[in-house]
Amino acid sequence: MRVVLTIHGIGVFGGRGPWQAPIGRVLAPHFRCVTIKYSHYRWLGFFSAVLEPRIILLGLAILFVTRRWHGIPHLWTWIIGLFVISCIAAQFRHRKALSHLLTESSHELPLGFKPHVIAHSMGTKLLGTALKEYPQVRLGSVVLTGCVLPANYPWRHVRSTNPRAFERVRNEVASKDLVPLLARAGHRLGILRGYGNAGRVGFDAATNFVHTMGSPNKVCGQCAAAPPPAPIHNVTSAHGTHSSAFATSEFAAYYWLPFFWNIDPVEYSDFLELCLDANEHYENRNWPQLRVAEEELLHSEWRWAAGSTLESHIQLYLSKHPRGWANTSVVALVLQKMYVDIAAASKAYRDHGEDWQRKVAALHPVVAMIGAIDVILR
Ligand SMILES: [Zn+2]
Repeated sequence: MRVVLTIHGIGVFGGRGPWQAPIGRVLAPHFRCVTIKYSHYRWLGFFSAVLEPRIILLGLAILFVTRRWHGIPHLWTWIIGLFVISCIAAQFRHRKALSHLLTESSHELPLGFKPHVIAHSMGTKLLGTALKEYPQVRLGSVVLTGCVLPANYPWRHVRSTNPRAFERVRNEVASKDLVPLLARAGHRLGILRGYGNAGRVGFDAATNFVHTMGSPNKVCGQCAAAPPPAPIHNVTSAHGTHSSAFATSEFAAYYWLPFFWNIDPVEYSDFLELCLDANEHYENRNWPQLRVAEEELLHSEWRWAAGSTLESHIQLYLSKHPRGWANTSVVALVLQKMYVDIAAASKAYRDHGEDWQRKVAALHPVVAMIGAIDVILR
C-alpha cells in the first residue's frame, strides 16, 4: 500500500498538526499514513523560527548579572549583537528539524518507494529545503497548503537535477492567508531565509510547468487544451485562509484523495455524483431515470479510464480477466455492482460502521470496477 506522509506546520504557539489525525482517517482506507511530528518549535512557535529564545534569555541574564546596562550605546550594541546571534541560531534549529524529518521519513519507507506528501506551513519549508538539498529525496504527488516557500522556488531546477524528486505538486493557494505574507516580509527584512508567499499568490507561472486554476472546482484549461499536464498547479481558493483546507475532512476527500489517485478531482466529483444518482434510482426502482444515469456513466469518456468510455474500460478488464468474457449483460451487471458499492462506500465514509475501511476502498473507481468484476465472474 502506498504511503502518504503528513508534515505539520508550527502554529503561532507551536501547535503540532491537529489536522493530521482527521485527514489520516480519510486517507487510511486507501494509503498507509505516516504522521511526521517534530518538537523543535513546540513552545514558542513562529517566534522561534525567527529567533533562538535561549540565546536571548542567556544574553539578558549575562547583562543582568554583570550589570552592564549603563550607557545607552553599549546597551544597544549588546541587544543588536544578541539579535543577530539568535537569528543565526534559529537557522540551526531549522537544520535540526529538517534532519529529524528526513530521519523519521527514512525509517518509515521501504527502499524504492515514493511517498505522497501533504505539508502545511513550516512543513512546506522543510520539504522545499529537503528537495533542493538532498538528491535521495523521491516523492510521488505533493500537496502544499499554507505554503511559505518563495513564489520563485526553483521547481524546474529541482526536477532537472533530480528527475525523480517529485511527480506532481498541488499548491493550495489561499488568497486571505496572512502567514505567507509575514514569511515573505521576514525574508525581505533578512530575519528569515528562503521564505516567501507561494501559499498566498502561487508559484510563478511557467509554460508547460506551472499552471494556475481559479478554483478547486475547475479543471485546468491549459492542460485540457495542450496535454501533457503540467507537473505543478496552483489551485486558488478566493476566500481561503491559512488552515481553511482543514476546516472539514471533505476538502481532503474531494480534492486530495483523487489527486493522489491521479484522477482529476473535478471529474471524480462528477463520477461520484452520477454513481450516487444511479444508486438512488435503483433503490427507488425508478427505472427510466436509472437508465439515463447508467447510459451517462457507461458512455461518457473518463480520463481516469485512459480517456475511454466506462463501457470500453469494463470490457477491456473483462477480456483480460482469467475467467472473463465481454458481453453487454455482464457489463451491465458490473456497472450496477459498481455504483451500489460506491454508494455503500460513500455511506461507510460517514458512518464508520462494521468493516468500513474495506467498503470505503470502493470510492476509487478502478478498485470498485475490479471488485465488481471479481464478484460478477465468481
Ligand atoms: Zn494545467
